[in-house]
Amino acid sequence: MSHNPRRQFLTKSAALAAMPLLGGLTGSALGQAPARKLGVALCGLGNLATNQIAPALLKTRNCRLAGIVTGTPSKAEEWKKKYELPARSIYDYKTMQRMADNKDIDIVYVVTPNAMHLEHALAAAAAGKHVFCEKPLEISVERCQQMVDAVKKAGKLLGVGYRCQFEANNLECVRLAKEKVLGDVKIIDANFGFAMGDPTQWRLKRDLAGGGALMDVGIYCLQTTMMLTGERPVWINASEVKTDAVKFREVDETIMWQTKFPSGVVANCTSTYSANGLQGFRAATSRGWFGLDPAYYYSGNRGRRSDGTEINIQVADQFALELEDFADCILNNRPTRVPGEMGLQDVKYLTAIYESIKKGRPITLT
Ligand code: NAD
Repeated sequence: MSHNPRRQFLTKSAALAAMPLLGGLTGSALGQAPARKLGVALCGLGNLATNQIAPALLKTRNCRLAGIVTGTPSKAEEWKKKYELPARSIYDYKTMQRMADNKDIDIVYVVTPNAMHLEHALAAAAAGKHVFCEKPLEISVERCQQMVDAVKKAGKLLGVGYRCQFEANNLECVRLAKEKVLGDVKIIDANFGFAMGDPTQWRLKRDLAGGGALMDVGIYCLQTTMMLTGERPVWINASEVKTDAVKFREVDETIMWQTKFPSGVVANCTSTYSANGLQGFRAATSRGWFGLDPAYYYSGNRGRRSDGTEINIQVADQFALELEDFADCILNNRPTRVPGEMGLQDVKYLTAIYESIKKGRPITLT
């Protein structure tokens, strides 16, 4: 995917991302390094694991890369050397259960295609490991529920890789909304998309991705609307546009949806695999507006408020922040702000969006 605009826009501010952690780490995550760093095994060594998560782990104080799970022997060899991993901490997808005997590994971070998350999370939980899982949690409510139940039964913590929940510019917008700095939030516009390149990749295959742009990037917009309102949607109406029925034969290309929230806030969102340049949100308030563009990059997110104030907080690596926080939750026995239940709930709303398209009518949510 190196020529893919997704990659380009997400890595655009690589210089910023490479900066030392600058103050995004707050509270307990910034405390003293614990006596023992928690060991993280990365399951799935694709783009995200290679270019974002493994480098981020080098910046964390309370966890470290301690193992890998890969189906590709050449990657195993390469990572073993690069990160000085012991041979006993290298697994393939079929030997994950052996992690039960490996005390170096505390957390398995699942970074495989969406529909493989369950299998890998179940294997990790069965081996007695905590599970951090990329978004979307899985491709159906039932599969999410199975994951939540299995990790709970194992007595372990399940977290979802919602990095924007740790990104300071996004969190500043949550503060503006919550403290009504520019009045009450009334209408939210949130949009995220990119022009999909390689037509053969798993993101275009229903059985591996579960859906298209909505599952992949629309989920960020959904999260934004809930973060800004602090509420859950009660009504969803959606429609779909396909301009390339061959490439997007199995998954959605562009989806527009509206949601209503209990307080009367209305959100308009778009997810797409057909265009670059959609990567932000704006909240219209009773006295003005605020928003971020970009809002969802790995770094360099920034925005403005209607009173002229810029929103441009220098942020530490989002992946380091989410991992530090997850490790801190485990070390201090506290809940995570991105629990498996949140991932499950979001897949429920995504499913309602697909249902609305299929039925050609709004869906009322309970
Ligand atoms: P990728 O295609 O680059 O990597 C997927 C990895 O899974 C590869 O190492 C591949 O070898 C492995 N794999 C195992 N079985 C496979 C199979 N049957 N088919 C295809 N690949 C298989 O994907 P990615 O971009 O790294 O995405 C992985 C996960 O991370 C997805 O769930 C995605 O939604 C999520 N993601 C999150 C963010 C974020 O910002 N939080 C960004 C990108 C991706």
